[in-house]
Amino acid sequence: MPLAAPQATPSRVPTTELHPIARLPEEWQASLTAQGERAYAARQVFEWIHKKGVIDAAAMTNLPSRLRASLAGEGLVPGVAVPEQIHRSADGTRKIAVRLRDGALIETVLLPAVSGKGSPAQLDADAAAADDDDDVDIGPRTRVTQCISTQVGCAMGCVFCASGVAGLKRHLGAEEVVAQVLLGRALLEDGELLRNVVYMGMGEPLHNYEATARSIRLLTHREGCNLSSRRVTVSTSGLIPEIAKLGRDFGGQVALAISLHAADDTTRSSLMPVNRRYPLAELIEALRAYPLPPRRRITIEYTLVAHKNDEEAEAKRLARLLRGLPVKINLIPMNPIEASPLGPPALERVTAFQAVLTGAGYSCFIRRRRGDDVSAACGQLVLVGAKPKVKGFRATS
Ligand code: SAH
Ligand code: SF4
Repeated sequence: MPLAAPQATPSRVPTTELHPIARLPEEWQASLTAQGERAYAARQVFEWIHKKGVIDAAAMTNLPSRLRASLAGEGLVPGVAVPEQIHRSADGTRKIAVRLRDGALIETVLLPAVSGKGSPAQLDADAAAADDDDDVDIGPRTRVTQCISTQVGCAMGCVFCASGVAGLKRHLGAEEVVAQVLLGRALLEDGELLRNVVYMGMGEPLHNYEATARSIRLLTHREGCNLSSRRVTVSTSGLIPEIAKLGRDFGGQVALAISLHAADDTTRSSLMPVNRRYPLAELIEALRAYPLPPRRRITIEYTLVAHKNDEEAEAKRLARLLRGLPVKINLIPMNPIEASPLGPPALERVTAFQAVLTGAGYSCFIRRRRGDDVSAACGQLVLVGAKPKVKGFRATS
């Protein structure tokens, strides 16, 4: 399958070409002072957008009206990410189909922790990506993890994935990535707190590196959403140069999840064409080189596909391959997708696979994708064409 080359977007985009939601405070400062505005207007605009979640310049009541008008002219108007359908599952998971300005649909998912404090074992694979051993007390509130998309479709072509089968339609801009979180925050229910963000929705975040990196800077900014960078997890199919770049750009503070899905190159290449370009030995070297802080671990995601990668021999190879790496392993029985005859193994095979890995000393969890009663894995909702249904939210974006 054709693998599109990761696009190199310049990291220094002129501010005027960046959507207002995508601008960092220092960029606002430069552009607004150049327009003769007072310096503190920069901070006000950034806070309106990223702290208060307001992306309508007309509603920024403490700004002068000429500035509000010019911001609206630059695109600071509602409509960047509009919820089209919200599917609520019995376990509290909300899957939100989001309509973008050009009509494209993507998906974001809110995953509340099962109990107030929660524990990694109780959370979805996605939420568990951040280590929680040094968690501060957040009182009786329910921690929510949000899963976000970075592309419309995906170029990587993994055979078990609906986004991969759909192919890449386009990259998201940083403003569209961040707008999903602003929307997610607006949709939180009483007592919920947005705590973790995982880049595990539609698309390969490291194939859209500049927008992904910029969105992380925005989401972790103290004057904005103020998420902790170790509570932001980027999941990748293994784009080696961008893994190294992410490590350099964020000093290893951003949590990393690797979609491995096989422990030998033949199997992995048959499931994930990206492996032909970045084979396992090189990927493992890249993981060893990732500047992980002490006591943190890389999450290894392993989607179990019946008769493809579920043999006990493969589990033993995996145990050998990962030897010496600080990892935890999440086994995810494949969610069937319409476009593929592949499916999950029987439960005994899943538990046998897990037993090999725990026996070899690894932390290894079986993850059921949450929200199974409304649709399957992340990224599939918008591809199955459910009927529009939006109720009970306060949309500000
Ligand atoms: N592109 C990135 C992030 C999005 S995919 C990546 O591949 O890591 C997020 C996770 O969902 C990946 O681990 C992927 O392998 C998994 N996934 C995709 N389709 C799936 C399916 N049908 N069943 C189970 N897991 C799936
Ligand atoms: Fe893309 Fe990830 Fe799906 Fe593979 S699993 S096709 S990399 S979204």
